[in-house]
Amino acid sequence: MDKAILDAVASGAYIMGKPVKELEAQLAEYVGVKHCLSCANGTDALTLALKAWGIGPGDAVFVPDFTFFSSAEVVPLEGATPVFVDVCEDTFNIDATDLQRAVEQVLAEGRLKPRVVVAVDLFGLPADYPAIRAVADKYGLLILEDGAQGFGGSIVMADSDQPSRACSFGDIATTSFFPAKPVGCYGDGGAVFTDNDEWAALIESYRVHGKGEFKYDNVRIGMNSRLDTVQAAVLQVKLKAFAEYELDAVNKAAALYSERLKGLATPVVPEGFRSSWAQYTIRFSDSAERDKVQAFLKASGIPSMVYYPKPMHLQTAFQAEYTLSFRAESRNLCPVATSLCERVLSLPMHPYITDEEINTVCNAVKAALK
Ligand SMILES: *Cc1c(COP(=O)(O)O)cnc(C)c1O
Repeated sequence: MDKAILDAVASGAYIMGKPVKELEAQLAEYVGVKHCLSCANGTDALTLALKAWGIGPGDAVFVPDFTFFSSAEVVPLEGATPVFVDVCEDTFNIDATDLQRAVEQVLAEGRLKPRVVVAVDLFGLPADYPAIRAVADKYGLLILEDGAQGFGGSIVMADSDQPSRACSFGDIATTSFFPAKPVGCYGDGGAVFTDNDEWAALIESYRVHGKGEFKYDNVRIGMNSRLDTVQAAVLQVKLKAFAEYELDAVNKAAALYSERLKGLATPVVPEGFRSSWAQYTIRFSDSAERDKVQAFLKASGIPSMVYYPKPMHLQTAFQAEYTLSFRAESRNLCPVATSLCERVLSLPMHPYITDEEINTVCNAVKAALK
């Protein structure tokens, strides 16, 4: 790592240097898609995808109600309207049945045009792409896979006996290299993935000020969203460790957690799916029980976090009229997401956690519940 960083600094090519191009090729190969374009962070990656598709005013973009703010934030930033969709209680990911219901509601209301579904691979588990693709195909929606937490996860799809990797399921997929994600750098970073040549060319232009033939030929309004060479050098080292042993290590840790916490509502990984365990998140029966356990863990010196305490449709930023979908006017919107916010707790999780540490955490959780 030290050598990778020093070499990147010594090269003098601080932005989009050689390691950036090399990393993009390595990421594309790992994921199994034709194009990978790195950028400044995972939020910009989502914005670049929406720009490539020309999403704007009058467009409905369906977003799970239970996610990090970015997944929905980018939609009104482009002038489009987020329509919040409920999630599944056991996987935390978007519920394809409620997605269909939401699309039908938008069509019946007739004000917005359904264009995109943002499918988030929450906590490392890929969303249910076979079910989402069926709804998307029925209504002509594009799938934007927000793989910020999902990098490394996989699904064995019906037409294959080999697992397909996260960030290959969307028409465009994105990820984040924020330090706490499955593959993190030493600052901010992100990437966009697609098999589509035309969209890849547009994203390449958008990320550098809408460049045309060359840097000072600007053919569209774009962004400044590039990956620093030092971060790419860090990521080349991290990606190797991730592929060689870190992904296996987090899966081993998750299996031990689930075994030691048997009887509690531990995370569900459907048949044929594999998670990259950005978080290991358990559910309690209500907020009082969750808060009691979290307080007990804290008193025992064990960190834990509530991802996420607030569903998207209750975020203050989305109460403004221009982003408020008609769906939000109906009370009891996304009851599962709302309830999960009160009951979830994420436990310490990383590739280097020891069996002993997991035992300590699990014993504390069980003691708190006694
Ligand atoms: C972290 C995250 C993002 C944004 O990534 P940044 O690199 O922090 O901009 C987007 N979506 C989800 C689900 C995330 O967890």
